[in-house]
Amino acid sequence: MAEMNARKRRGAGTVGTGDLGQRVVLQAWVLRRRDHGGLVFFDLRDRSGVVQVVVRPESRPEVGAALAAARAEWVVEVVGEVVERAPENVNPELPTGTVEVIAERAAVLARSEPLPFALDGKTETSEENRLRYRYLDLRRPELLANLQLRDRVTLAVRNYFHQHGFIDVETPILTRSTPEGARDYLVPSRVHHGSFFALPQSPQLFKQLLMVGGIERYVQIARCFRDEDLRADRQPEFTQVDVEMSFPTEDDVIGLIEGLFGRIFPLGGIEPPASFPRLTWAEAMARYGSDRPDLRYGLEILDLSGLLGDSGFRGFREAVAAGGVVRGFAVPGRAGAAEASRREVEGWAETARRHGAAGVLTLRRKGGETTFQVKSALSPGETAALAEALGLEEGGLALLAAGPQATTAAALGALRQEVARRFGLIPAGAHAFLWVTEFPLVEWNPEAGRWNAMHHPFTSPDPRDLDRLDAEPGSVRARAYDLVLNGMELGGGSIRVHDRELQARLFQLLGIGPAEAEERFGFFLEALRYGAPPHGGIALGLDRIVMVLAGAPSIREVIAFPKTASATDLMTSAPSPVDERQLRELGIAIAPGDTGSSSSD
Ligand code: ASP
Repeated sequence: MAEMNARKRRGAGTVGTGDLGQRVVLQAWVLRRRDHGGLVFFDLRDRSGVVQVVVRPESRPEVGAALAAARAEWVVEVVGEVVERAPENVNPELPTGTVEVIAERAAVLARSEPLPFALDGKTETSEENRLRYRYLDLRRPELLANLQLRDRVTLAVRNYFHQHGFIDVETPILTRSTPEGARDYLVPSRVHHGSFFALPQSPQLFKQLLMVGGIERYVQIARCFRDEDLRADRQPEFTQVDVEMSFPTEDDVIGLIEGLFGRIFPLGGIEPPASFPRLTWAEAMARYGSDRPDLRYGLEILDLSGLLGDSGFRGFREAVAAGGVVRGFAVPGRAGAAEASRREVEGWAETARRHGAAGVLTLRRKGGETTFQVKSALSPGETAALAEALGLEEGGLALLAAGPQATTAAALGALRQEVARRFGLIPAGAHAFLWVTEFPLVEWNPEAGRWNAMHHPFTSPDPRDLDRLDAEPGSVRARAYDLVLNGMELGGGSIRVHDRELQARLFQLLGIGPAEAEERFGFFLEALRYGAPPHGGIALGLDRIVMVLAGAPSIREVIAFPKTASATDLMTSAPSPVDERQLRELGIAIAPGDTGSSSSD
């Protein structure tokens, strides 16, 4: 079949009425085969789609013979004429459904054993199976579409930044530890026994050094590695759109990313607003109980301390007297939450307790009457004032919590989400973009008995708060910002410290003494001696963004070869033991009986 060369090959899904009477060459997979009396129908599938091929063994015995054994997922080559289907045979489900190809010549290019699972999109198979045979799973149109979408997104990202004067620079994978708050993946050195490279948790220090190097505007679609517990939106290796610029303000970075989103979200049919609302961290925590609040629905948390700190209910009085708060939110009447069962309320109290609060109390309005859960603890006047403050509607219910500020916020924040899902308050197709700004610089780590950086140690304190850095570090705000979509963190960044003295002070504050700072970050502190420009940037989670655009339930659906929740690759069986010789070369001995931590899915 000399004419069957790749140059003339046609995509199965591209054949159409414009080809009527033409001869086409197809090289594709058999999606399905149907034998109908004297006719054999093959649906052939390739990346471009599906087309029906008709084989008439009687008039073309050699074609019939060539494809006699061909079954699903065999790879075949067919040359044939494109003809119109009879009206009764038109398949409206198929973009090529008005035509078919009458096979004139055919050959088998590759056989296939029966697949371990069907690709018909109807038969469910376990995700384990799908990951083990990922190359087969990739033949499904959904995964292909996700990868094509990802390709369009990365292309748009590259074009956008290129047009804005950014230079795409690669940074090392074999490097030193970069503190982003997770465990490092380590790579032992063969040349220097006992020394290890760390895979980058992010290119943070390199991108800052690129600014010292005068690059001014850097972008990279960068792989990051973090050995942490996994969830649906986390993988041990993931991809960031990593950005850094010299001489920026927060608004410069924010505006740049809003512009980018205006380019890439329409690829998933989502039109983001030209600029996104902003909340300071303190506002987000107080009003939504989360530093990444989902603003697709209301359920705004109100502070009721003033109203209830002096009320008839002791629990409220004591919380406020101890410096805590009483807060709550109301569920709209239309949700019918006033009918919530005792068990349901107990479930909410359990959620509140999991987040460190003592529990949760309800206020309901039914048949024009408002009742507080602790009967007669509040006077009728107090009850009415509370209902009024919360905007409690007929059929509505409010959840109240009292105690220290942080745990009350966390508990109500979690309940907000639970209640929104439970009562179907999340509008379908809505997307709420949000910037959270002015994060605290540090947070207290009670276990370690020291301050941790909330973002990372290179984040600049807000100059307005600098005078409190030593005496009251917990009250110092950072020039940090996170980008949130529908309650999910899509990215975060900050304006950095570019002053060596200040950077050294921050290390000290974080419990990194001068000797350790020198040992771990000496190269970086030294760079800050030589004219480091003011700089700042951000990193966006590319996998998460594509997941949202694809409407996929997990980032594994937008990664060609992802790992399982227990950080293994089921296809290649990585990680795996290595042979003695390799270990000897690396100067590594595995303790007998030690097969690592036995985490499971
Ligand atoms: N390196 C940071 C991160 O991975 C992002 C940034 O500060 O630019 O979260």
